[in-house]
Amino acid sequence: MGKFEGYRGTFRCVDNRWLGTDEAKELHEVEGVELHNVHEHDAVIVGAGLAGMYAALEIKKAGFDVAVLTKVFPTRSHSGAAQGGIAAALANLEEDHIEWHFYDTVKGSDFLGDQDAIELMVREAPLVIFEYEHMGVPFSRTPEGKIMQRYFGGHVKDFGRGKPVLRACMAADRTGHVLLHTLWEQCVKYGVRFYSEYFALSLIIEGDVCLGVVAWDLINGGIHVFHAKATCFATGGYGRAFKITTNSHANTADGVAMVLEAGLPLEDMEFVQFHPTGIAKQGILISEAARGEGGYLINDKGERFMEKYAPDKMELAPRDIISRSIWTEFVEGRGIGGERCVHLDLRHLGAEKIKERLPQIRELAMKFAGVDPIDEPIPIQPTGHYSMGGIPTDINCRVLADGKSKWLRGMWAAGECACVSVHGANRLGTNSLLDASVHGKRAGKDIVEYLSVVECFEPLPMDCAKRAVDKVNWVLNADGPERPSELREILQDNMYELCGVFRNEEDLTKMYDIIKDLQKRYQNIHIEDKSKVFNTHLMEALELGHLLEVAEVIVAGALNRTECRGAHWRTDCPGRDDENWLKHTLAWKTEEGIKFDYKPVVITRFVPEVRKY
Ligand SMILES: Cc1cc2nc3c(=O)[nH]c(=O)nc-3n(C[C@H](O)[C@H](O)[C@H](O)COP(=O)(O)OP(=O)(O)OC[C@H]3O[C@@H](n4cnc5c(N)ncnc54)[C@H](O)[C@@H]3O)c2cc1C
Repeated sequence: MGKFEGYRGTFRCVDNRWLGTDEAKELHEVEGVELHNVHEHDAVIVGAGLAGMYAALEIKKAGFDVAVLTKVFPTRSHSGAAQGGIAAALANLEEDHIEWHFYDTVKGSDFLGDQDAIELMVREAPLVIFEYEHMGVPFSRTPEGKIMQRYFGGHVKDFGRGKPVLRACMAADRTGHVLLHTLWEQCVKYGVRFYSEYFALSLIIEGDVCLGVVAWDLINGGIHVFHAKATCFATGGYGRAFKITTNSHANTADGVAMVLEAGLPLEDMEFVQFHPTGIAKQGILISEAARGEGGYLINDKGERFMEKYAPDKMELAPRDIISRSIWTEFVEGRGIGGERCVHLDLRHLGAEKIKERLPQIRELAMKFAGVDPIDEPIPIQPTGHYSMGGIPTDINCRVLADGKSKWLRGMWAAGECACVSVHGANRLGTNSLLDASVHGKRAGKDIVEYLSVVECFEPLPMDCAKRAVDKVNWVLNADGPERPSELREILQDNMYELCGVFRNEEDLTKMYDIIKDLQKRYQNIHIEDKSKVFNTHLMEALELGHLLEVAEVIVAGALNRTECRGAHWRTDCPGRDDENWLKHTLAWKTEEGIKFDYKPVVITRFVPEVRKY
């Protein structure tokens, strides 16, 4: 072995000589860097939602050493909040086919989804559902004991010409909760190592290889280096860029921001899904399951207004279309009492059905809107929900350093933070739990293959923790006049108003300038709590830094894409423009601003056509 420098445990290796703690400490002090803890694992997964835990389970079962880092306790990951279901063409109650699921997903994506990836996902869907069933997931059941399935928007029979199809596998309206808890039990059973409440802050990349991540221990304070042969990001979405959102507080774009900071591109970031039915003024989700079970949308005049916008599919048209329809009702003065709100009416379903099939929705409506849906309609408005874009990967979840074909060796990404791309410009409901599960598993399998041939850990660079240490030290020592919470509020309020359901150049330019101003003001923040032990001020300030970087890419992408496609709707650029924009956006952060490049959409089977419901 040649000259090797690196860390292990609280020791440090220089010129092949392992230095004990005191000596190592001295060296660190000379450099002005704190002494770090270093952990070595074959694979390190960042994120303990469905994607992260599925990947970890696959790796552990194959006999490799895998660790999962997570900012929140694993069962508090946002996957646990998913209500409605997970899609698979099981045909348990009526005719369905993998081919129909394939077509619906392609059409739902407004033809921007990559068809090779979509086909793989829908084919693997039934296998993943059966695997979940065998792990012990308590799905709701049909009278014959099969997995219960319900209607969901955009899932339609017979190549879009027929009626909705029963495709969403469900556990009442707590599907994400039961999937997440079952995966967690399995991970514990097989001995996956968890580092709970560790906040990953930076990637370690040396040349063309990823060597792990650096994280902050939220409970005790302190920087930890995670040295791995394989690193997988499963850090979820970033709905917290918007004021009205369904997303949990932890969904702050950390993973995608770390990728951006490492000089890598992000894909299709302009596509953010607004779910039509969040509780008015709060954003908390009332699942599409409520409409799947037969709920109506009603305006101030008492009309089922979806008749005008999607006469065939009505309340079960895809989300982008329903969100725009609701917003149009607001703009044209037909919101309830002239406010930004319409009604979701479930009363005709009857008390029994609501209690059996939608118990959580009833509880949420009672707690957060003060109405019992058995007796009163629920006030709702569109809410920031899902990120279609993310870290570009190939179909085996390998992160693409150039966004196109060149693998950043040693790095994978799966779930909502990744862009394979199976959702294109708009995701269909229930396809995301599926995406996270299928791609978590696929990432795990690919990592196992990689670990089977890669024997050694590659040495860590001496300055591997520098970026993370600098980030933390900078926030702890910052003493400017600005408060992070105020900057965050300005960002979230404006993102919802200016980069929301409908967009135009004027609003987006204004939003871009606001972000630039906020980024400047962020350089002058201070936090009140300077301690290192469970310092939520520190965590929130770091999260805000990530949100500001990623929001810039979302808005720049939205300005750049001068067409309407899926969830990205430019009122000043009407119509989908396949000639110029049937392509994925790749975006890098540079000194001069956001730089763009493009790559073609993979079309294998369905030629783009007009998307009508
Ligand atoms: C309210 C709600 C309802 C939904 N309902 C449905 C549904 O019915 N069907 C459907 O298909 N989809 C649904 N979705 C979408 C779906 O739940 C998510 O897209 C999916 O669960 C994402 O899974 P994930 O594993 O990628 O990420 P998540 O489950 O979000 O997990 C992210 C993980 O990353 C960790 N993390 C993040 N940053 C860091 C960091 N810096 N350091 C360490 N750890 C970090 C977090 O701690 C967490 O463990 C819903 C989403 C919401 C918000």
